[in-house]
Amino acid sequence: KIKYKEYTPNKQTMTQFPIDKIRNDFPILNEKIRNKPLVYLDNAASSQKPNVVIDCISHVYRHDYANVHRGVHTLSVRSTDKFEGAREKIKDFINAESDKEIIFTKGTTESINLVAQSYGKDNIKAGDEILISAMEHHSNIVPWQMLCEQTGAILKVAPINLRGELILDQFIKLIGDKTRLVAVAHMSNALGTINPVKQIIAAAHDKNIPVLLDGAQAIPHMPVDVQELDCDFYAFSGHKLYGPSGIGVLYGKQALLEAMPPYQGGGDMIRRVTFEETEYNTLPYKFEAGTPSIADAIALGAAIDYLSAIGMDAIAAYEAELLDYATEQAKKIKGLRIVGEASEKGAILSFVLDHIHPHDIGTMLDSLGIAVRAGHHCAMPVMDFFEVPATARASFAIYNTKQEIDVLMNGIESLIEVFG
Ligand code: PLP
Repeated sequence: KIKYKEYTPNKQTMTQFPIDKIRNDFPILNEKIRNKPLVYLDNAASSQKPNVVIDCISHVYRHDYANVHRGVHTLSVRSTDKFEGAREKIKDFINAESDKEIIFTKGTTESINLVAQSYGKDNIKAGDEILISAMEHHSNIVPWQMLCEQTGAILKVAPINLRGELILDQFIKLIGDKTRLVAVAHMSNALGTINPVKQIIAAAHDKNIPVLLDGAQAIPHMPVDVQELDCDFYAFSGHKLYGPSGIGVLYGKQALLEAMPPYQGGGDMIRRVTFEETEYNTLPYKFEAGTPSIADAIALGAAIDYLSAIGMDAIAAYEAELLDYATEQAKKIKGLRIVGEASEKGAILSFVLDHIHPHDIGTMLDSLGIAVRAGHHCAMPVMDFFEVPATARASFAIYNTKQEIDVLMNGIESLIEVFG
């Protein structure tokens, strides 16, 4: 058995990374798509699941399942222990100070909506400003627009440049006296850009303004330490982190969460209910109304164990080499334009081809067994900025290889030959 922890990234990353072992851990990679071996490059939308996650869900339902927090019977205690154990694993994974700071949600979208509707409604009023960037996913735009509609606040949008990078000094200039919250992607799903979030956070904190990071894309690709980042909120989804869909996380600093009103009312989030008055539960349960996605939360814990054993540093180094290789190869193809060439970039390659619509690229690559995403990637303003209707996006994960990138590039060349 390979001990992943012994791996240390260096120049021989590609040869040292236990890629064969990892690929064997993901049963779906054996699928044939249109009689070709699957080349799965749609990881930014959702990543595939290792056996430990699949088996964990099955094990919970076969052996450990009951509702959490409510029963004195053995199974309920067992499922509660595992559910709370997963919270503890997440706390350690992102280095939160306390498990009270880890709120289970459905995913990034719900986490951001929670902050908008709870923190936002309590702290933001007419004329106040919320600052986002021009590269946000719709999940980090629309909840703020809704809050602005409800309160009369104003949404400010910091610009990006043609490489798909935030223009940092302009971003910082937009943090003004009326700014009440900054919400920005740690890493862009449409472009791959990794944002200078530490500088943004420092500038916002200088003015006592809290910062929410949309970590949906960053979390599977790099070590995330919320205390080191000093962000106030960090939102992410389980399904992009090799875990199940239907489960996600909102991290929030305890003092902020303590002061915030609940987002939804119902079971579990209360301590005592009468018709006259309801006393809310303590953190983190105050924000977890109703029965949560129990098995999915536990399986997210299994995904985190799996990734921690490989090591997030090793993953970041391996994927950086994949991205470098893919970028190098893509640049050799005439008629291919990369959209998003930030100097700090995660494992995402968005591109367009002369004379071929991205949707046709997606369909034609599928006929070769290659899964890429074609569309606006829930970031329509980014498409408008680059004046393209859509892009094709290849996004890489721990189980992808240089050989698969070769298959992609050969596929692109062949479709340019036929249709270009
Ligand atoms: N933010 C970013 C940057 C994303 O890439 C995504 C998903 O694509 C989301 C938010 C929304 O995540 P979810 O649909 O899991 O809530």
